[in-house]
Amino acid sequence: MHVLLVEDDEMLADGIARILRGQGMAVDVVNTGEDADRALGSREMSVAVLDIGLPGIDGFEVVRRLRMRGSALPVLLLTARDDVQDRVQGLEIGADDYLVKPFAAPELVARLKALVRRSSPRTIDLQVGGLQLDPFARRATVDGQIVELSAREWAVLEYLMQNASRVVSKQQIIDAILPWGEELTLNAVEVYVSRVRSKIASAGVSIKTIRGFGYMLEQGSA
Ligand code: CA
Repeated sequence: MHVLLVEDDEMLADGIARILRGQGMAVDVVNTGEDADRALGSREMSVAVLDIGLPGIDGFEVVRRLRMRGSALPVLLLTARDDVQDRVQGLEIGADDYLVKPFAAPELVARLKALVRRSSPRTIDLQVGGLQLDPFARRATVDGQIVELSAREWAVLEYLMQNASRVVSKQQIIDAILPWGEELTLNAVEVYVSRVRSKIASAGVSIKTIRGFGYMLEQGSA
C-alpha cells in the first residue's frame, strides 16, 4: 500500500508518516498543494491523505485537479474543524472520506485500509495458479503453504501479481514499491525478482524476463 501524505504541519506529517509506516505502508510526504499535484500526476499511489488547509493551492483544488485528470485514486481529506460546509464541499468535488483533526491513529489506519479495499478489488485475493496473496495480512501462499518473503520481495511480487499477464518495466516496479527519496538500482530489482522466482517455483506461475525491459508474471511453468 503506497500512501501520499499531504500536510503542511511538518510535525504532524512526521507523526502520521511514522504511524502508517509502522503498519507496513510506503509513505511519501509532501507539504504543499503544488507538490501534491505534481506527485499525483507522476507516481502510482494507492491512496492520498490530504490536508485541506495548505499554503498555495489547497486540498480541495488538489482533489479537483486529480479528478479532472480522470483519476479515481481514493482520497481522504483532513480538516482542522468539524465544519459541515468543508465536508460537503470535499465530498462534492470527489473526495472519498474525511477526518477531523485531532483524530486517533487507529481510526486513520482503518479508514485508509477500507478506502483501498473498496477502490481496488484487484488487491484482494490476488491469485494466479497455485499462488495466492493476501495483501492485508501480507501473506503469500503456494498451494496453501506460506512462503517467507522479505518486505521488498513481497512488494515486487504484489506488483507483478496486480499486473499479471502484462509486461511491466523494471522502472515501473521501482516506482510502485519505493517511497520517494529512496533509491533502488535496476540490478537490485533483478535480484529481488530472481529470489521471488525461486521461492514460488512450485506454484505453476512463471515470471518471464522481457529482455532489456522488464517482466511478465503469468500462469504456467517457466
Ligand atoms: Ca494545514
